Amino acid sequence: MDYDAKARLPDERLDLIGAIPYILMHVGAFVGLFYFTLTWEAVAVVIASYYVRMFGITAGYHRYFAHRGFKTSRVFQFILAFLGAAAAQKGPLWWSGLHRHHHRFSDQPEDIHSPRRGLFWSHQGWMLCDKYLETPPSQIREYQRYPELVLMDRFWLVPPLMWAGILALMGGAAWAFWGMVVSTFLLWHGTFTINSLSHIWGTRRYETTDTSRNNLLLALITLGEGWHNNHHFYQSSARQGFFWWEIDGSYYMLKILSWFGVVWDLRGVPQWVLEGKRRKHDRDVARAATTYDLPTGLLARMDALDQLRAQIARVKERAEQVDMRAQLAQSAADLAKRAATAAQNAAEASQATSAADITARFRTSAVEAAMRAANLAERAAEAARETAETMRDRMTSAWAEAAHRAAEMAAEAARTAQKAA
Ligand SMILES: [Zn+2]
Ligand SMILES: [Zn+2]
Repeated sequence: MDYDAKARLPDERLDLIGAIPYILMHVGAFVGLFYFTLTWEAVAVVIASYYVRMFGITAGYHRYFAHRGFKTSRVFQFILAFLGAAAAQKGPLWWSGLHRHHHRFSDQPEDIHSPRRGLFWSHQGWMLCDKYLETPPSQIREYQRYPELVLMDRFWLVPPLMWAGILALMGGAAWAFWGMVVSTFLLWHGTFTINSLSHIWGTRRYETTDTSRNNLLLALITLGEGWHNNHHFYQSSARQGFFWWEIDGSYYMLKILSWFGVVWDLRGVPQWVLEGKRRKHDRDVARAATTYDLPTGLLARMDALDQLRAQIARVKERAEQVDMRAQLAQSAADLAKRAATAAQNAAEASQATSAADITARFRTSAVEAAMRAANLAERAAEAARETAETMRDRMTSAWAEAAHRAAEMAAEAARTAQKAA
């Protein structure tokens, strides 16, 4: 990463006034320890209030509202939102919107809470900063047909106050202290480890472009969110522990709820992910390699093309956010993508020609494919350059570069194919 990771942007100021309730909760949790005795009942209240609301955060705010990992009724959707909101981490739309932003820009300069900007910042600093208080408008749009959610998002302080009230009614001041003050303190820092420690501490199964990691301990305290590298690699599944030994409390609970019809259509993990392939495409390459006995040079080139594809997909995703430019950007990105695919086909075919038992007909088609690819890529590059000139922003130049690289690769494939023919 070539940006100054620790530098705070000029408009990222810690809002000290706004942070007072947050700080007071910490002081309260500490001071209260001298007034309330720790009993087994208190421990049970802390843990129950912790995990019930953690479920609201992981299954509700994260897997449902941010990632749409399963479906449910409007009533249970509301219950999930309420349990998540009771954790006092603001409203469901604010939370899920900023979280989507984190995935889109993980550990890039735009990432609001990348640990590359310091552990304190990723853990809680970003949240105490007045720049990120607003719910992203896209989330409001998506959920506005549920006024109860929009309302809860605006008055996000009401559910935690109700939660404290229920505890006080059930067990007096002691329950309110243990179940709200202490439990929320633990719940906050438990949740925040996913933004901080989960990007620093643990193992990596998948070579994602971010720093996410898998960590059993963090998975236990967050009901399964500690399998964060899994999650960054494949985000939309209802489970984050991909294998039976990866303990994922939220998923077990969702599974049980699905038996009773409370939730349904739990999205699973596809086979190519379980096989540890970086992309679906990797499996196809592996299959082609065994069929044609492809040398490593070609595999490397395919790999580069594959990365290019991912880049184009990312660019495309960003392009979708910019209203007017989206159309232009998308068609150029599409073109570049098609060029990349064609170039890859050409590369594959041209390699095949080097095997002695491939017919002349096959050779001709290889050259043809390569030519077409080069043509396509050139057109993509041109479109990209043209738009880059008129737009002059990072997004445009990113896909201009992608298209340019596609052109280069296609040209190289063409040369190889021609030589082989
Ligand atoms: Zn996520
Ligand atoms: Zn993350």
